[in-house]
Amino acid sequence: MVVGEFTTEVDVLVIGAGPGGYVAAIRAAQMGKTVAVVEKGELGGVCLNVGCIPSKAMIHAAHTYEHTQHTESMGITMENVKVDFAKVQEWKSGIVKQLTGGVGSLFKGNKIQVIPGEALFVSENEVRVFHGYDVNRYRFQHCIIATGSRPIELPAFPFGKRVMSSTEALSLTELPKSLVVIGGGYIGIELGTVFAKFGTKVTILEGSDQILPGFEPDMPRLVERKLKKLDVTIHTKALAQGMEETENGVIVTAEVKGEQQKIEAEYVLVTVGRRPNTDELGIRDIGMNVTDRGLIVVDKQGRTSIPNVYAIGDIVAGPALAHKASYEGKVAAEVIAGHPAEVDYKAIPAVVFCDPEIASVGINEKEAKEKGIDYVVGRFPFAANGRALSVNAGEGYVKLIAEKETNLVLGAQIVGPEASNIIAEIGLAIEMGATLEDIELTIHAHPTLGEVTMEAAELALGRPIHVMK
Ligand SMILES: Cc1cc2nc3c(=O)[nH]c(=O)nc-3n(C[C@H](O)[C@H](O)[C@H](O)COP(=O)(O)OP(=O)(O)OC[C@H]3O[C@@H](n4cnc5c(N)ncnc54)[C@H](O)[C@@H]3O)c2cc1C
Repeated sequence: MVVGEFTTEVDVLVIGAGPGGYVAAIRAAQMGKTVAVVEKGELGGVCLNVGCIPSKAMIHAAHTYEHTQHTESMGITMENVKVDFAKVQEWKSGIVKQLTGGVGSLFKGNKIQVIPGEALFVSENEVRVFHGYDVNRYRFQHCIIATGSRPIELPAFPFGKRVMSSTEALSLTELPKSLVVIGGGYIGIELGTVFAKFGTKVTILEGSDQILPGFEPDMPRLVERKLKKLDVTIHTKALAQGMEETENGVIVTAEVKGEQQKIEAEYVLVTVGRRPNTDELGIRDIGMNVTDRGLIVVDKQGRTSIPNVYAIGDIVAGPALAHKASYEGKVAAEVIAGHPAEVDYKAIPAVVFCDPEIASVGINEKEAKEKGIDYVVGRFPFAANGRALSVNAGEGYVKLIAEKETNLVLGAQIVGPEASNIIAEIGLAIEMGATLEDIELTIHAHPTLGEVTMEAAELALGRPIHVMK
């Protein structure tokens, strides 16, 4: 033991204060446990500081700027619309500060101790926390690891002055004139759209044959159309190979559909995925089961191979999403408090805040076919929804999938305005075991975008009102 090191005892020690860790800590405290949270960075983790929240603030600012430039069709002309990008950043940082401050207040209100520093396991029930020159020990009955993930760096594109991860891209204080985005997944597309709307010339390089690979091809197609209107160049089946720095930027070499291309830009943004933060925790030394990709192996209750230690969020299998992390955090905390909770992933929504927004929950048609499910589909267009037209957003559709025999709702895919909010109703429907009739018979306020789910249910049942069968 280092001289001066002393040991504190807690019921539950949470490592990481992202949306997984801070939610788990609050739920554990609500259930009467004494809880401490170790955090080496800022409260709120990636999500609040450099992920979901700042990116959505930037997306909103970029949408607002774009909308103010295209109001002539409504008879409104605006002149001299300008962007003060440093001010946009200031506004965004204010939101982040407000939310991270909120987490601090919730911790205080729930009597949760915050321990600044980096945790390292020394045994199955003890960690050391390093903070500057200080080292302290914490002994726990239960521990929840929620250390999240960090951007993957490509060897040919080391992060530096000209090559950014999403973290640096979100804190640029000047708009780049041009940008190459390597990776057309949701982070690349969201941030690429932000910069394109602010006037940056964006080129996207995506390795597979469509952007947003996890979604049904029809969905990204509409997004691609909008990106092209924003003068974004999209190269699919494109492999970024290397780069050369110039005085004012970079020249990226890429193989696009088998041919070599050189693309000049001021910056490169690499968004090719994220790596779990499990390599510097000492968990392998205490015998914890970790996959080759660095994901911690857990059971349905979030328990690792060390029974009193749980793991949640980006460091365990499944989509790296904030709401999945929070959900797993609540389950782990409840299990620790003696409740028979366990995870059920059949209704995790996935949302991309691109333009138009896309969202999905449950299964899609391809998955239904793979599972041998006999299904029905209702695909209702936003063009037939009064509210969508009155807010100038009549593109896209909602598609509902249900089991043919029972009409049990199994999934939905939405492209269009407020897809991110509308999807919640279908998540609830799946969770509640609702049928198409339940959605059809739910009175939806008119005129709202939310009516599209009711219309899609009617369509799937073969009795649509606002479109022909
Ligand atoms: C640009 C961007 C946009 C995103 N947008 C969305 C979105 O719209 N919706 C969505 O659902 N998800 C989004 N995500 C993903 C989301 O941010 C993550 O899935 C989520 O933050 C994971 O939560 P977590 O609690 O597992 O970990 P994190 O949020 O990564 O938090 C982990 C915390 O642990 C701390 N930590 C790590 N190691 C240690 C240690 N040894 N000791 C002490 N502390 C430690 C870290 O400092 C960090 O604060 C986005 C991500 C990015 C990068």
